[in-house]
Amino acid sequence: MYLKRLINLPRTIGFRVAGWYVFIFTLSSLCFFLITYFFLHSTLVKQNYEEILLELDEISTLYEIGGIRILENFVIENNNSRRSNPLFVRVADKTNKTFYISSPEKWQDFDLVALEKIAPDSGSDWIHLSAVNDEYILAVQSAHLSSGFWIQVGMSCEGAHNALNRFQKFFLVAMIPLFILGLAGGMILSYQTRRPIRNIIKTVQSLDIEKMTEMVPRSLSGDEMDELAGLFNKMLDNIHRLIEGMKNSLDNVAHDLRTPITRFRNIADMALQNEEDIDILKEALVKGIEESDHILKMLDTLMDISEAETGTMNMHRKQVDICDLIGKIADMYAFVAEEKGIDMDINIPGNLYISIDSDRMGQAISNILDNAVKFTAPEGHIHINAGRFNKDVIIRVKDTGTGISPEELPMIWDRLYRGSQGSTEKGLGLGLSLVKGIVEAHNGHVEAVSEPGKGSTFIIRLPEDVRDA
Ligand code: ADP
Repeated sequence: MYLKRLINLPRTIGFRVAGWYVFIFTLSSLCFFLITYFFLHSTLVKQNYEEILLELDEISTLYEIGGIRILENFVIENNNSRRSNPLFVRVADKTNKTFYISSPEKWQDFDLVALEKIAPDSGSDWIHLSAVNDEYILAVQSAHLSSGFWIQVGMSCEGAHNALNRFQKFFLVAMIPLFILGLAGGMILSYQTRRPIRNIIKTVQSLDIEKMTEMVPRSLSGDEMDELAGLFNKMLDNIHRLIEGMKNSLDNVAHDLRTPITRFRNIADMALQNEEDIDILKEALVKGIEESDHILKMLDTLMDISEAETGTMNMHRKQVDICDLIGKIADMYAFVAEEKGIDMDINIPGNLYISIDSDRMGQAISNILDNAVKFTAPEGHIHINAGRFNKDVIIRVKDTGTGISPEELPMIWDRLYRGSQGSTEKGLGLGLSLVKGIVEAHNGHVEAVSEPGKGSTFIIRLPEDVRDA
């Protein structure tokens, strides 16, 4: 187990994040070191050059005024005070032969004779002599005297070299805690950034088809990880609702199919008990066909609802005058309403063109009208109107029927739901689910407002630019 984890470690996000962090941290520290090193190097070298030029100026003035003796005294005094980095002084005649040279022990390492072969120049050109057994460099600058002689002053870069060496050592030592700090930082960073992922993994591991209510804890920081956790929770919630919906539908379908199938079985049983009576056999067959039609209708409607909800319903949209469609459906129900003693009036402007599947939308409007007639008592009233509001087409069917209680109102759109008053009426409890499916497949919206005992109003809102859902 642990060995497997160890083998898989390089593949984990945490390892890679920490690795990249350490790499970038170390690289940045190295860059910082190099920049500082070169800056320090150039500053120290410049300082050396400036010091040499100052000394050259002073020494050549002294020599011009007081000659070689004064110069010698000055050099001895000067070198006594700066033991660690003494000055190099050389006086050469017109032919560059050495006339005087200050040669403290320090300068034994340099090939000073070589200076006789390099023509002095009082310009900005520097002479650089390398030490024989060491890595120091002697920087020398020359000045031309009025007598035609040359005076050369130099200084070893040992001081700068030592300072840089110390800096290098300091950096190498500092790199160890810096690396440890980078590693720790990388690990903390990767641990923190992976926390939401770990939470998601933990939640997914604890999920069960029976227990889909687990949620990923949110940090509410509003960052991408928090957004991911939020989206994941939303997805879980949708899955949970879908599973619950499927379970309920399946339970309801099983329950609602049980009654017609039992009836079907009883009819067949009765017929078998009276096999000789041809009339009873014929009646059993007729009832059997009725029951099968009932079951088929229920299954067809369930299929239509699920197609509408999943967006797989076959739609044949074209520009249709919805007022014309409502008028035709209302005419069909006018007769039933009249027979029941219900007064029905229509208020539609005409010429309300909208792109819809007229068969499907007709089915939705019929279902609402069918319910209005079904749940309105004689002497009641049904009012249909339609119009354009902003850019939407709005259809309203208002009745003075039984009304729906506030507790039942949210459930009327559920599959196979039949309200308390619905159970006394004929129906499958699928009409409004289909209405909702069809309207939403047209990107529309349907809602109901109702007051028990006073009546209900069903409102369909269809956007003008009905696009494919
Ligand atoms: P069905 O009418 O076949 O029972 P529906 O899906 O069309 O199924 O309606 C579901 C339930 O909503 C009905 O059983 C009824 O209780 C309630 N309902 C629908 N329309 C009305 C209405 N106009 N007035 C009162 N109740 C209604």
